[in-house]
Amino acid sequence: MLSVRAGTPPPRAHSSALAQLHAALAKSGLSTCSATPASAAAAARACSRLRHLRAGRAVHGASTKLALLSASTHSTLLPNALLHLYASSPGGHLRLARLLFDTMPAKDAASYNILLTALASRGHVAEALELFDEIPEPNVRSWTALIAGFAQSGRPADALRIFRDMENAGVSPNEVTVVATLAACADVGDLDLGRQVHIYAKQQAYCHNVQVGNTAIDMYVKCGCVDVARAVFDAMDRRTVVSWSAMICGHAMHGEGENALELFAAMSRQGVLPNGVTFVGLLHACSHMGLVDEGLAFFESMEKDHDITPGIEHYGCVVDLLSRSGRLDEALEFINAMPVEPNSVVWGALLGGARLHKNVEMGEEAIRHLTVLDPGNDGYYVVLSNIYADAGRWEDVARVRRAMKHRGVKKTKGWSTISVGGTVLEFTAGDCSHPRATDICETLDKLLSEARRRGYVPDTSVVLLDVDDNEKERVLARHSEKLAVAFGLMTTPPGTTLRVMKNLRVCSDCHAALKLISEIAGREIVVRDRNRFHCFRSGACSCRDYW
Ligand code: ZN
Ligand code: ZN
Repeated sequence: MLSVRAGTPPPRAHSSALAQLHAALAKSGLSTCSATPASAAAAARACSRLRHLRAGRAVHGASTKLALLSASTHSTLLPNALLHLYASSPGGHLRLARLLFDTMPAKDAASYNILLTALASRGHVAEALELFDEIPEPNVRSWTALIAGFAQSGRPADALRIFRDMENAGVSPNEVTVVATLAACADVGDLDLGRQVHIYAKQQAYCHNVQVGNTAIDMYVKCGCVDVARAVFDAMDRRTVVSWSAMICGHAMHGEGENALELFAAMSRQGVLPNGVTFVGLLHACSHMGLVDEGLAFFESMEKDHDITPGIEHYGCVVDLLSRSGRLDEALEFINAMPVEPNSVVWGALLGGARLHKNVEMGEEAIRHLTVLDPGNDGYYVVLSNIYADAGRWEDVARVRRAMKHRGVKKTKGWSTISVGGTVLEFTAGDCSHPRATDICETLDKLLSEARRRGYVPDTSVVLLDVDDNEKERVLARHSEKLAVAFGLMTTPPGTTLRVMKNLRVCSDCHAALKLISEIAGREIVVRDRNRFHCFRSGACSCRDYW
């Protein structure tokens, strides 16, 4: 009646896994009519664990034939096991899961939570919310399924909204909720909520859970508090390679390359084996410190000493490492010899190096690939036209502008957010919609004119509009990160660190202006852009102008 040889097993199911599956199926009695709902459920769970959907469907079929499903009117054991099988199968058999769920004679909280997790984690937002509303009494697991699902499917703001609803409903978060919420806070840069959740976790003694510690490190790093992240790391009673890697990457992202390398040495002394993420951190650290040969040695040791196959992100790091230090020919050679297809990050790194070292030819080579790989991104054209401008090739600058117009490249709208008093506010470039827009602009203009007295000259080369220089300066003065910083200075007590998040790379003009503003206002300003952190303090930036 039942055979797992009905089809080719998925490649992951190796022979010992198949042996386990056979044992579970034999024990279930499904082929001898002596099966019970409990033994069939055990067989279904074995199929789930081994991700063997075909065998699972056979269990489902046999259960139906033996009337085991209708026998379980009072128990959800078997239907829930089958539901889990469909909901968690890698290909995503949500339709089958839904069909089974809708025909289940009895449902309990677990049945709802299984389907809820599957829907939310695959981005079926409306359906997940609808199902949630049908749950008679949602428990902490139901809320957590929704929060984790949204956090994992790239909707962190929705995840945090649900978390607040859960608090208002008087349900206390468990360890899984804490992990999911901290991850969402990291993604949107909500330090206030992240800190509250972390304090709560400490009160509940959840911090012995290594995953809670790891996510807290990541949250603090991504919210710009690398020192707090390090304190969390140091206080952990147990650490995994994930903890070490998160901290190494954290130091690297914040321009603290020495700390990253020291931590790696400590990790090796303790006998913890590195993984791919560890090397991303190490390569970043070397790149930002200009340690080219050390970086190349790390890259080589990945495969040689640790049996880790480099991924595209590692290749990107090496190209960045070579390009930044001006070894552009080697970088191009390296790209051409890559065993994997170079992506826009790889060519973008070469373009960045070409800009830094004013190499027109390399810039043109990179842009040739970037226009194919990432045609809608205007950032590359800005860099290319800057390279031409540096070389005094104004005709080429004009040609790039015409090409942009011709190709219909649209400018990606830049936005910056700042968290003030527990609320996250968003500013876009030239934004005048804020109720205090006039005050914000006045504050900003005062700061910029003081900055000019201290030597700031607006860098109009980053503006690609066909307008005169005065207009370009006006556009520059309203970049979103400048607006967010001005607003932060107006609305927070003296001495408060400002934390701004930007969706694009911070431009060179804002970088120069923010350095001086940090000095004028006597504030620390942390800006997280698409690639890294900039910590502006007393007129300097932690990236040492190398980004
Ligand atoms: Zn800017
Ligand atoms: Zn910087």
